[in-house]
Amino acid sequence: MKTYRIATIPGDGIGKEVIPAGRQVLEQLAAADPGFRFEFENFDWGGDHYRAHGVMMPEAGLDALRDKDAILFGSAGDPQIPDHITLWGLRLKICQGFDQYANVRPTRILPGIDAPLKRCRREDLDWVIVRENTEGEYAGAGGRVHQGQPIEAATDVTLMTRAGVQRILRFAFNLARSRPRRLLTVVTKSNAQRHAMVMWDQIAREVASEFPDVSWDKELVDAMTARMVNRPASIDTVVATNLHADILSDLAAALAGSLGLAATANLDPERRYPSMFEPIHGSAFDIMGKGLANPLGTFWSLVMMLEHLGEAVAARQVMAAIEAVTADPRLHTRDLGGTATTLQVTAALCAWLRANPLLRAAA
Ligand code: NAD
Ligand code: MN
Repeated sequence: MKTYRIATIPGDGIGKEVIPAGRQVLEQLAAADPGFRFEFENFDWGGDHYRAHGVMMPEAGLDALRDKDAILFGSAGDPQIPDHITLWGLRLKICQGFDQYANVRPTRILPGIDAPLKRCRREDLDWVIVRENTEGEYAGAGGRVHQGQPIEAATDVTLMTRAGVQRILRFAFNLARSRPRRLLTVVTKSNAQRHAMVMWDQIAREVASEFPDVSWDKELVDAMTARMVNRPASIDTVVATNLHADILSDLAAALAGSLGLAATANLDPERRYPSMFEPIHGSAFDIMGKGLANPLGTFWSLVMMLEHLGEAVAARQVMAAIEAVTADPRLHTRDLGGTATTLQVTAALCAWLRANPLLRAAA
């Protein structure tokens, strides 16, 4: 029997609530005897670790993760520690250390969800946003000089490499090709940013010629926000830089009903390192510790994890369970306008999996 070694890193805030819920779902799935099992190892890295040891994760932390099949991550962000320290000390350390260059963010309006766009039908919004995840605006290049002086200066330098841009565009074209509409929108800001973004556009044209069966168009990022709201059905797969896609995918999540539903995969497509799966939301200081967090973004990230592991049947099963939960308004958490708790949603989803043991039949 196949054993998948999963690292769980709850991190901070509601990460500590949704990641145990995600593990419970995986355990329920494995209980149906689908032909595989999970072996979990939990890592208590994050703000508490920082208070105790002065770092978000140990120096050799990546080595403890290296032989895992996948990483399930919660959130990095603590009310008492500056955000750039928590983010760079944990999540970005893993994404960059394991060269997880493709960040993939699917967005759909799930059954039963009251999305904010009046004229948008459910079938109009079915997107996947691909975010470059290792360089660009978040390369970490830059510095501060004359700190505290009137002449203080600071830079954050966007760094685009031909290899980095080429590989993310190839990944996006491939992903677009695998979806029924075979349609990719390449987002840049090559009118105002006249070096790196112009190179990005040029490489997009080159890579596009390798994919004659994929239709593609270009959009400037500001125009893209309006297009997402006004013409959602004109979009299928999207590729953008680290910063631009970060912002567009929060907008996408809100347009699909809630940040609490949105999931993401940080992939090393070459599989040299473990990939990392997480809800896109952060620590949610305003609701942490209250049992109100929506765990469905984490559950959707499990679907992406199962797909990556090659367990397509199990992935579809968990997605069906998520859709059964969202279809029932009594199981909506507060972010969706309901009163259900994290534990209630988790229990309902596990009960659905127990009642629908399709896996055993299919395995
Ligand atoms: P956030 O995602 O934590 O919260 C934004 C809003 O959405 C809040 O009102 C929150 O209550 C709500 N929300 C988010 N997830 C929810 C869920 N599952 N269920 C119900 N409501 C939910 O974003 P923020 O406030 O900008 O950031 C808070 C902290 O988290 C910061 O330290 C930030 O750096 C960090 N952060 C980390 C990650 C990550 O590790 N991947 C991502 C985003 C933010
Ligand atoms: Mn973000």
